Amino acid sequence: MTLYLGFAELYHDQLPDRIRRYLNGRGIPDPTIEQAQLGWNGERITIPVYDREGRLVLYKLGRAPDDPTDSPKMLCDPPGVRAELYGWDSLAEHPSSVVVCEGEYDRLVLESQGFPAVTGTAGALVFRKNWAEEIIKVPRVYVCFDNDDAGRRGAERVARLIPTAKIVTLPPEEVVRIEEIIGQYTPLHRSGRALMGRCCFHEDHVPSLAVFPDTQSFYCFGCQKHGDVITFLMEAERIAFPEAVRVLQTFVHHK
Ligand SMILES: [Zn+2]
Repeated sequence: MTLYLGFAELYHDQLPDRIRRYLNGRGIPDPTIEQAQLGWNGERITIPVYDREGRLVLYKLGRAPDDPTDSPKMLCDPPGVRAELYGWDSLAEHPSSVVVCEGEYDRLVLESQGFPAVTGTAGALVFRKNWAEEIIKVPRVYVCFDNDDAGRRGAERVARLIPTAKIVTLPPEEVVRIEEIIGQYTPLHRSGRALMGRCCFHEDHVPSLAVFPDTQSFYCFGCQKHGDVITFLMEAERIAFPEAVRVLQTFVHHK
């Protein structure tokens, strides 16, 4: 299926329910799906990316959860297009802090939790000087990339371009599993692909809290709280993003 620039609304209108639920499970709730105009082109999840002037310049194309092929998790259309910063709209609102993260979904999860966030569309190692010149105007900048080789090198590059930025290093997913962390707050029992437990954020008489080991995310069917391990710790401990990262590092330290 051919993609057309300007079809973002059309793709958004044809987003199937099962894909919407998959995105919810990844920590991207409906209001964020609407705002980001996430859609469906018949084969893949469409993420429209706008440039600084608000022009639609490319789509990132996420693999469907039930895609039987082993096609890449994320594609870009048009292919080989220049890298763009995803999140100009967040910077335009003059936030007091911003998280530079790695990946479009990660950005949307942070945004849905009230954290202005941006990401480059061409991977951890591509970060443009003119993006940095805008981001540096934000008073507090956090850089939070994957804890792998590319992620570490990418974060260092961003920190060189934005000397005020603080690098926050998340322990790798193999080391800290979300089910392990949440399991310390509430007992979890396996149910299909998820682990279920009583929610710690509302008075829960049925286990409503689903923890998804595959996507390292959680979603409560009672109070709709959702997110990743960081957002869980922020909510559970009523702490801010950098403190939650520190708590997570303490968990690793004591293992
Ligand atoms: Zn709940």
